[in-house]
Amino acid sequence: MNKPILLIVDDDAQVLAAVRRDLRARYRESYMVICTSSGEEALTTIRELKARGDSLAIVISDQRMPGMHGTEVLARSRDIYPLARRVLLTAYSDIDAAIKAINEAHLDHYLSKPWDPPEERLFPVVDDLLDDWQAEYLPEAKGLRLVGHQWSPRSYAIKDFLAGNIIPYRWLDIARNKDARVLLDAAGVGDDDVPALFFEDGFVLRNPEPREVAERLGRPLSAASDLYDLVIVGAGPAGLAAAVYGASEGLRTLLLDRHSPGGQAGSSSRIENYLGFPAGVSGSELTRRAVAQAQRLGAEFLVPLEVTAVSIDGGYKRLTLSDGRELVTRTLVAATGMSYREHPAPGVSEHTGAGVYYGSAMTEAPVCAGRRVVVVGGGNSAGQSAIYLSRYAKEVQIVVRRDSLRDRMSHYLIDQIGKTSNIRLRPCTEVERVEGSGHVERVALKSLVDGTSEVVDVDAVFVFIGTRPRSDWLPATVLRDPRGFVLTDHDLRADAEYARIWKEPREPLPLETSVPGVFAAGDIRAAATNRVAAAVGEGSLAVRFVHEYLALT
Ligand SMILES: Cc1cc2nc3c(=O)[nH]c(=O)nc-3n(C[C@H](O)[C@H](O)[C@H](O)COP(=O)(O)OP(=O)(O)OC[C@H]3O[C@@H](n4cnc5c(N)ncnc54)[C@H](O)[C@@H]3O)c2cc1C
Repeated sequence: MNKPILLIVDDDAQVLAAVRRDLRARYRESYMVICTSSGEEALTTIRELKARGDSLAIVISDQRMPGMHGTEVLARSRDIYPLARRVLLTAYSDIDAAIKAINEAHLDHYLSKPWDPPEERLFPVVDDLLDDWQAEYLPEAKGLRLVGHQWSPRSYAIKDFLAGNIIPYRWLDIARNKDARVLLDAAGVGDDDVPALFFEDGFVLRNPEPREVAERLGRPLSAASDLYDLVIVGAGPAGLAAAVYGASEGLRTLLLDRHSPGGQAGSSSRIENYLGFPAGVSGSELTRRAVAQAQRLGAEFLVPLEVTAVSIDGGYKRLTLSDGRELVTRTLVAATGMSYREHPAPGVSEHTGAGVYYGSAMTEAPVCAGRRVVVVGGGNSAGQSAIYLSRYAKEVQIVVRRDSLRDRMSHYLIDQIGKTSNIRLRPCTEVERVEGSGHVERVALKSLVDGTSEVVDVDAVFVFIGTRPRSDWLPATVLRDPRGFVLTDHDLRADAEYARIWKEPREPLPLETSVPGVFAAGDIRAAATNRVAAAVGEGSLAVRFVHEYLALT
C-alpha cells in the first residue's frame, strides 16, 4: 500500500524546500511528502490522489500566493479529503487572516514562519495532527473502483464482466456512498459518463464497454496464431475442460468467450454435486482453477470475444468475431451452452439489468441486503439462487407455475428452502407485470388457481425460466432439434435431414455434429443432462474425437 501523503503548497521555492526538508527528515519512513507551487496545482494533485485511491493526511499551504490563497486551497481540499488535516503557513502579519480562516476553511492549525527549530515549533504540531488523523481515517478504497448507479444496466454489465472474470473491484453506488460523488467530481466525470471505472494509476474509463475494460487491464483480445488445430467457443465447464485436454495433448488450442469464463456454472453460488468437492465449491472458484489449469497447459484464452458466424472452407472452419475479425481452425468445439428465456410479462424487458436479472444472483446479492426479491422458476438453479439470496435479502419469494417444487428441484434444495425462514414459496403463481420508474419497484403476481392478482413491493426479480440454446452462430448445416439444440450421435443419425447433409464415407464421430470437424459439448447439445460434471465429461471426450478427426484429414 502507498504511504499516506503530506502535501505542501507554497509559491516560494525556498520555503517549499525548507518545509519539505524538515518533514522528510522526520516522517519519510511512514509518509510521502509531495510539493506543489500553487493552489491550482495543489488541487489538481489532490484530485489525482483521490482518483488513485491514495490517502492524504495533511495539507500545509502558504497563505499568500498569486492566484489562489492558502485558505481557499485548504477549504477546497476539504471537499475531496474531509479528514485530511489542514495547516496554514503564515507570515506574522497574516495571523489575523489565519485566525479568521480557522472557522471558514476549517483550519486545524496555523504555523507562522519561520518555524525554527522544527523540533519545538513544527514537529509537535504535525505529530499531534497526524495522531488525530490516524485515529479517524479509513484507508481509501484502492485498486479498481466502479462508480455508478445501482439500477443502471450499464453498471450491471461492467460489474458482471468484472465479477465473471474474477477481477477484484470495489462498487461505489452514487446514491449510497459519499465517496462516489467525490471521486467523480475529482476526476471531472459528468453524469453522462457513468459508470466510471477508476484504476489504481489514476486512469478513468468513462461509460466503457467490457471490451475496453479488458484492453485496459492488458488482457489480449487478438489471437496469437493465424491457424489453430482446435478452437473452442464458450468457456463454461464444457469449453474449459476441452481447453485443458486440447492444450495438454499438444493441440494448438484457442478458447474464447463472449462474456467471461465459467458460463452458467460460474454464476452458481455453490455446486454441491461435483466430484471431489465434498463441501461443495462455488462456481467462481471452480472457474478460477480451470482457467489457471488450461492456461498453464498452454491454451490461449480470449475474453470478451463473441463468435457471430462460422463458414466452412474445405477442411477449415472460418470464424467471424463480433469485431469483424476472422479466425481459422481445423476443428471446432461448440460449447456455448444455453441461457434463460426472456420472461414475456410486460415491464420485464424495460427493467432488464435494472432490477430484472437472468440466471445469476451472485453479483447482485449483496445489494439486495434488507430488500425484498422474487425468484421466478422451479429448477435447481432457481432454488440455489433463492437460498443464496436469502442470506442478504429481507424476503425471497419463489414464484412457480406448478403446485410444488418436487418435479424439477433436487431434494436437498427443497429441504433447505423449507428450513429457511425468509423464503416464501408461491406455487401456482406467475409474474403478470413488472413496474417501477427507472428500476423494479413492484410486481403483479397472478394466481393460476383463481385468477386473482396481487401487487407486491420488491426491488429485484431473478428469472430462471425456460432455456434457449446459444446456437444461432453456427451454420445452417449444423442440424438442430426444433428448439435449436445441436444434434449429435444417435439423435443426429435419426434426424430426417441427416442423409441430405452428411456426405462423408464414415459415420459421424461421437459428439460430432452434421458438419465434419465441428463438435458440440455440454448444454448446447440436444438431450444434454445440464450438469457441470456432464459438461466437463463431454468437453474432455470431444478432444479425443478431435484427434481422430485430425488423423483422418
Ligand atoms: C445458477 C445455476 C446453478 C447451477 N448449479 C448447478 C449445480 O449445482 N450442479 C450442476 O451439476 N449443475 C448446475 N448448474 C448447471 C450447469 O451450470 C450447466 O449445466 C453447465 O454450466 C453447462 O456448461 P456448458 O459449458 O455446456 O455451458 P455454459 O455453462 O452455458 O457456458 C457457455 C459459455 O459460452 C459462452 N458463449 C455463448 N455464446 C457465445 C458466442 N457466440 N461466442 C462466444 N462465447 C459464447 C457464454 O458466455 C458461456 O460462458 C447450474 C446452473 C445455474 C445457472
